Amino acid sequence: KVNIVWLRRDLRLEDNHALSLALRGKYPVLVVFLFDRIILDQLPDKNDARVSFIYRQIEFLKRELQQYGSDLLVGDTTPELFFEQLSKRFTIHSLFYNRDYEPYAVDRDRKIDHWAHGKGIESISLKDHVVLEPQEIRKPDHTAYSVFTPYYKKWREKLADGPLTRYPFQTNNLLKTTPLPLKSLQDLGFKYNPLESTFKRHIGDFSAIHYEQNRDFPAKNATSRLSTALRFGTVSIRSLVVQALKENEVFLKELAWREFFISILHLYPHVVTRSFKPQYDAITWRNDLKEFELWQKGLTGYPLVDAAMRELNETGYMHNRMRMVAASFLCKHLLIDWRWGESYFAQKLMDYELASNNGNWQWVAGSGCDAAPYFRVFNPYSQQEKFDPQLTYTRRWVRELGSSKYPKPIVEHSIARDRALQTYKEGLASF
Ligand code: FAD
Repeated sequence: KVNIVWLRRDLRLEDNHALSLALRGKYPVLVVFLFDRIILDQLPDKNDARVSFIYRQIEFLKRELQQYGSDLLVGDTTPELFFEQLSKRFTIHSLFYNRDYEPYAVDRDRKIDHWAHGKGIESISLKDHVVLEPQEIRKPDHTAYSVFTPYYKKWREKLADGPLTRYPFQTNNLLKTTPLPLKSLQDLGFKYNPLESTFKRHIGDFSAIHYEQNRDFPAKNATSRLSTALRFGTVSIRSLVVQALKENEVFLKELAWREFFISILHLYPHVVTRSFKPQYDAITWRNDLKEFELWQKGLTGYPLVDAAMRELNETGYMHNRMRMVAASFLCKHLLIDWRWGESYFAQKLMDYELASNNGNWQWVAGSGCDAAPYFRVFNPYSQQEKFDPQLTYTRRWVRELGSSKYPKPIVEHSIARDRALQTYKEGLASF
């Protein structure tokens, strides 16, 4: 008999709750990973750097497990078929995995739990991806928070309840096996994208001590750059929270934003396609295709917006403040539906997370969980003066700035601002 540990968005061996628990069990542990065809087949770009990132991580994990005489078993099919095949090869006692709160994952896991139950296999899911799960943070009347500040207060209180556990990786109970095959990336239908290697996988020498003084300046390398590592779980959230508790409360708050949006998506899955606040679906977007294309390419004539979009296109990353500026410009200045922008970011961001991307887009558009009213319209010029006064960041991406090759603004700021306010007002009034 074996116990199976199914890795998904927790691609590490150290401080992995499900793995650690399984390794303390009675039966030898086989660690598995599935290239889920349902997800992979939806990716339009066969050169997707995220698949390359995962693939390389799988190679690391295989090598690490092989050092202990074990291996990572890797599948390439649908979850149901994968487990059906596994159960033919092994007598499975229990299946361990860490919980994932996205709607697709919840549905998938429910089906696998059901399948396991039918086979007499015990299925054990654990908390690992967050420090506090959606159902743990409730108002006194047991309903969920939809505004960040009171959510954070509660989250912070709960965090103070006890120290965060670290889950050790003990190797003695790993299943011994001869090396197991791994399909090449090409055989999986993808090409290697070298961008993946520019993303951090570990905390490294990041310090949060001066985080709040510098984090808003895109020219400074002052944020952790760990969003991709958190997305794929090559870093444990607990280790970062422990560091934040020691070093910087503002940084801690950002980690709580991540959990806040995970919670919103989990508890209000309608946000995937609709506004959190339904009246915002009554806004009549202009949705001009040509303008959308200029925004995507970084050719709006607003240097900070263009720099941000080019950073995204060239690197798969965009600084947080720039994400807010670029997103606000699309929704407010161009009156293009936030869902269009959200979907473009989803294609391009290496750290793409449905919960954070959707939550932040809706926050910027005004349709989401935000106490602030819709009339916050970021002014790209004052943002530029405040956060990139020397144009260091802007010039890094907009190399032709100041020359005749650089386009004129596609809309005039104050006209666009008034038009946005008017359109929002009319839309909301019509609801
Ligand atoms: P740091 O400043 O070092 O923050 C540490 C960690 O805290 C991040 O890695 C991230 O996990 C979390 N975090 C920080 N800010 C936020 C936030 N506003 N919301 C949620 N979590 C946060 N983040 C994603 O991980 N995936 C996305 O798809 C995503 N889409 C976004 C779309 C828009 C329009 C906006 C405005 C923000 C988006 N963010 C997203 C949030 C944020 O911009 C990134 O997490 C951050 O820029 C990543 O860089 P970092 O790791 O250096 O962040």
